[in-house]
Amino acid sequence: VYFHTDAVQAIGNVPIDVKAQNIDMLSLSAHKFYGPKGVGALYIKKGVRIENLIHGGGQERKKRAGTENIAGIVGCGKAIELATADIEGHNIRIRAMRDRLLKGVLEKIPNARLNGHPTERLPGNFNVSFEFIEGESMLLWLDDEGICASTGSACTSGSLEPSHVLLATGLPVEISHGSLRLTLGDANTEEDVDFVLEVLPKVVSRLRDMSPLYQKAKEGGL
Ligand SMILES: *Cc1c(COP(=O)(O)O)cnc(C)c1O
Repeated sequence: VYFHTDAVQAIGNVPIDVKAQNIDMLSLSAHKFYGPKGVGALYIKKGVRIENLIHGGGQERKKRAGTENIAGIVGCGKAIELATADIEGHNIRIRAMRDRLLKGVLEKIPNARLNGHPTERLPGNFNVSFEFIEGESMLLWLDDEGICASTGSACTSGSLEPSHVLLATGLPVEISHGSLRLTLGDANTEEDVDFVLEVLPKVVSRLRDMSPLYQKAKEGGL
């Protein structure tokens, strides 16, 4: 059985050794590690034979016929070089900021819970649910303050369905709807963390004040 891994989020965060980790195929995407958009790579172990994606030309060993995006490929190569030069140093810095942000969020906002594992996760990322509010309105308020965040999972944003991943973890639908994903990267600073910790509790509390469910819960009706 072949093993393919979607390592799009792993590059620059998790050390990868395709031989030691028995990886037959691995995909990555440059813009997730500060490279150019529109370029990525598929690693295929020698001996693994796969169907061609686009037929007709001989480019990319016939796997994906068409003229290569040279500038993109060079940019992808340079970006991965930079992103993997000091994974541990990157992780230590980003994880410390993430942990402070998460701790602050859980301390300052009642009825909040962390989704997923507290430590076995990407260093810069967490996902929290706030009871009695709806994630999409939270995003609008945060966006208005210049804070970029996401609700649901990356690839289903744009739909108002709660994340199927959160539902599969057993989180009830109504709580999944109040979920927020925050991700820190190399450009973030401690000041950004302070800013989110100042703004987010206000946004949640403003939305809860408008929520009939919250009023009911406060009166002990839920
Ligand atoms: C972003 C992402 C993708 C999609 O890659 P794009 O190049 O942005 O289309 C796939 N898998 C994971 C885990 C991702 O984070």
